[in-house]
Amino acid sequence: MSARDWIDKDFYRELGVSSSATDADIKKAYRKLARELHPDANPGNTEAETRFKAVSEAYGVIGDPEKRKQYDEARRLFGGGLRGFGSGGPGGGFDVSDIFGGANAQGAGGSFSGLGDILGGLFGRRGQGSTAGRPRRGADVDTEIRIDFLEAIRGATVPLRLSSPSTCGTCNGNGARPGTQPRTCPTCNGAGLITRSQGAFAFSEPCRDCRGTGRIVDDPCPECGGDGVSTKSRTLTVRIPPGVEDDQKIRLAEQGEPGQNGGHAGDLYVRVHVTPHAVFGRSGNDVTITVPVTFQELALGTTLTVPTLDGKVSLRVAAGTANGRVFRVRGKGVAKRDGAAGDLLVTVQVAVPNKLSDEAKAAMEEYAKATSDHDPRPELTAMLKQRSE
Ligand SMILES: [Zn+2]
Ligand SMILES: [Zn+2]
Repeated sequence: MSARDWIDKDFYRELGVSSSATDADIKKAYRKLARELHPDANPGNTEAETRFKAVSEAYGVIGDPEKRKQYDEARRLFGGGLRGFGSGGPGGGFDVSDIFGGANAQGAGGSFSGLGDILGGLFGRRGQGSTAGRPRRGADVDTEIRIDFLEAIRGATVPLRLSSPSTCGTCNGNGARPGTQPRTCPTCNGAGLITRSQGAFAFSEPCRDCRGTGRIVDDPCPECGGDGVSTKSRTLTVRIPPGVEDDQKIRLAEQGEPGQNGGHAGDLYVRVHVTPHAVFGRSGNDVTITVPVTFQELALGTTLTVPTLDGKVSLRVAAGTANGRVFRVRGKGVAKRDGAAGDLLVTVQVAVPNKLSDEAKAAMEEYAKATSDHDPRPELTAMLKQRSE
């Protein structure tokens, strides 16, 4: 198998999951396929055996959050575009990471920068040995919560239930039934990687026998099935700071997936959805409200009583106020962390009655007559006059 084949391979399709599947879905899909295709269950069936190997290989990569990230990145960078790369190369055999390492050093091809790292991570760098056993940071976890408008403004404490993989407590993560120990994989001598020669090339790839772990578990842990990882539910209390906005992400350090071999846990990112309020809106730290008014309230002036987040204010509207005018009520918006607060922005908007009583209609017609010399749109009138000349 060459690097080209490797990246052309669709490990997601191999496991019958989408590329956006969660780690738990991938694990589930793999378990199911592995059971169905296991050589013990299909004696003499070479097709099942081939599929079993392919499925194991796929899981060896996308079943590992770190390798999956690298695989996704490599596929995103050049999809099937590795074709033609290195075919018919000179004899002698060289490692694919050398090719890309060299390209990097020369600064060739912008989109290829970092490829050496990616492939280095995927295949393991020559001479550097395996990364198995090194401390690894846990994966970040994304989740979402919904709070209402007032909670977003005042801040809230929300319980959050998370199901996430964590180190299996029964086997302490080594995957072996308690009382037994995993043994070193004889195929790769525990490195997790094997080097394969194909024509002029030598490639490092994850060892199939141990799925890149370097260890073989003969008697799997009954709790986690040998993965060393079990799904646990935990409830966290998330403190939402006052003034959070819709779609804002809150980071909770080291509340993501646990690290491996003593590495730090990943972070938890909580995306906050804010349910809109029936009356109030937000514009940064300002709270907005639209107050329907009558024409005569604006024309004659009035005093409006307007609700605020926690009470009400009186608003003096002068005679002749324009429709759509915005009044600013200082300090009645979202409280900021430094103790200051945004404002309440009050927009007055004329509500035109969709039906008039006979009496109102007659009065309105009287009003129209009394103001018939007033043109509300002199600029347009002038423009239209010019056009008709
Ligand atoms: Zn276990
Ligand atoms: Zn091995």
